[in-house]
Amino acid sequence: MAQLKPGVVSGKDYLTLVAAAKAGNYALPAVNVASSSTINAVLEAAAKNNADVIIQLSNGGAQFYAGQGMKDGFKAKVLGAVAAAQHVHLLAEHYGVCVVLHTDHANKGLIPWVEALLAHGEAFYKQHDKPLFSSHMLDLSEDPMEFNLSECARILKRMAPLSMSLEIELGVTGGEEDGIGGEHDENADNSHLYTQPEDVLQAYERLSPIGHFSVAASFGNVHGVYKPGNVQLRPEILKNSQALIEERHKTAAKPLNLVFHGGSGSEKEKIAEAVSYGVFKMNIDTDLQFAYSEAIGKFVSENPKAFLYQTDPETDKPYKKFYDPRKYLRLAEENMVARLNEAFVDLGSKGKSLAA
Ligand SMILES: [Zn+2]
Repeated sequence: MAQLKPGVVSGKDYLTLVAAAKAGNYALPAVNVASSSTINAVLEAAAKNNADVIIQLSNGGAQFYAGQGMKDGFKAKVLGAVAAAQHVHLLAEHYGVCVVLHTDHANKGLIPWVEALLAHGEAFYKQHDKPLFSSHMLDLSEDPMEFNLSECARILKRMAPLSMSLEIELGVTGGEEDGIGGEHDENADNSHLYTQPEDVLQAYERLSPIGHFSVAASFGNVHGVYKPGNVQLRPEILKNSQALIEERHKTAAKPLNLVFHGGSGSEKEKIAEAVSYGVFKMNIDTDLQFAYSEAIGKFVSENPKAFLYQTDPETDKPYKKFYDPRKYLRLAEENMVARLNEAFVDLGSKGKSLAA
């Protein structure tokens, strides 16, 4: 088994991580974070499971990291992502695991966000000889295919010299992620939720000569957790996309690096099937948001007076130990770690860290 230095991975080490996951039939959870507390919970869970992990920020998560009070919202989205990345660069190696640093969905309106992050990334690269982020995502799946691919090609040209990877999206993931993507319409014609293998082939032909990329293909996956049954997960779309490229370009098996969006609430057998077709990354956000908040909700409802009075109005008992935010945020982190323990098992990555 290849061994890597613990900490943030990029370039050749990133490719080693992806190749090991595909060859070993496992995937890494990609967790959306918005605070130092959630980042630390992800690092703690990865360390406990001896597993590598992907930490990602949406534009909204990045803005929250910088602070909702910052007047210039665009600046906050950029600086919050940079601040979170620096936090991970500083701490990850001390948890003894490999971490991929990534930014989530950027639609057409957020291309300037990605470009601003690349400007920071170029400065960081000059100083440290490695990129600030391992990868970014461009999600232009709601735009015409030609615009999607030409913009992805343009951005990938800028990322390749920084040893960075680009995640693209083909077909539309249902549901909504931080304001991106439409409402999930239970009665809609769902054909747009399924990527066409011919589109994946076209992307492969355009992008693979430029640099490294991965594909979030839609196979009925939906952001968020909805009542099951109305959208059918069809992982065979991933298999067919791999097969088409293998056949046309005489590549080795599973030439594509695939990403599974909307992993929360998915059936475990479908997850395993998708992973067997070359999915190396599965995004989990909703389930972890719930785990984090669930623990706080439970604590507050068990200790309601501590959140109404600093000292008990009858007994004068001080409640400081209860309302100190570290008390309930720690419970939230522990519950997030517990939910991540499950994810590492479901994705087969428990015990598979390449860090040495
Ligand atoms: Zn997504």
